[in-house]
Amino acid sequence: MPEGLEAEIWSRAAQRLVGRRVESVWCDDRVAPEGLAEMLCGARLDGVDRVGKVVRLISDVGTVGLHLGMTGRIEVDGLAPIERLEYASGADRPEWDRLRLWTLPSGTHGNDQVPALRMNDPRRLGRLSFDEPLELGPDLLTLSAEALEVALSGRTAAIKSLLLDQSVVAGLGNLCADEVLFWAGIAPTRRADQLTAEDRERIARACRTRLPEMLEAGGSTHGALSPDVRASPGRCPRDGAELRRSNVSGRTAVWCPSHQR
Ligand SMILES: [Zn+2]
Repeated sequence: MPEGLEAEIWSRAAQRLVGRRVESVWCDDRVAPEGLAEMLCGARLDGVDRVGKVVRLISDVGTVGLHLGMTGRIEVDGLAPIERLEYASGADRPEWDRLRLWTLPSGTHGNDQVPALRMNDPRRLGRLSFDEPLELGPDLLTLSAEALEVALSGRTAAIKSLLLDQSVVAGLGNLCADEVLFWAGIAPTRRADQLTAEDRERIARACRTRLPEMLEAGGSTHGALSPDVRASPGRCPRDGAELRRSNVSGRTAVWCPSHQR
């Protein structure tokens, strides 16, 4: 599913919308707050940012949150910043659109049919929000050991499942959580209350160093534990041990029992 890294890529691509005015909006009422399209018409887009896995359009009438769910994706001015989600079918049908937003200027070189912003979501597990407060933990790209210590305080669950909790760390999904634990050398099943200060430092450092590399490479599917590796785990790229696939709190964890303790 799209994780914080994908949301970051889309948020960066959508910066070109800043300063434009919303000309018209269509949204799928099943996933949008009532009256959203009417409210946004004529609004000025003042900014685009990312909070956790959510891309936000900041306007002079309020802030729209694009929650991408399991299969959501975004196009800006008819271009797909991420061509094909490797965890989705690759198909793109108009009936899967949940938001189409046209702007002035259009930014689409005279083709007024193409929305300036489009959110397509085949499984309709994503949604749109308006001025919704988000209660999120510290961000995945700037996580410090101190912030992680506070976020994990009093928690006893497996570290992997806590890293997926958006109120603990914002933006991590299944692929990035496995990747971070892989580079930090921490087993996904380790109890959070048994981590040392050094363990937390290694997790925070892996977030700050490995995740930006994956971001530049194209997103959450571009780590050492790529979808290909996950499909048939072979040997650990660090030490050659047999990788293991386990179920941790209902999610598949791929990890190395040799260097992840
Ligand atoms: Zn290993």
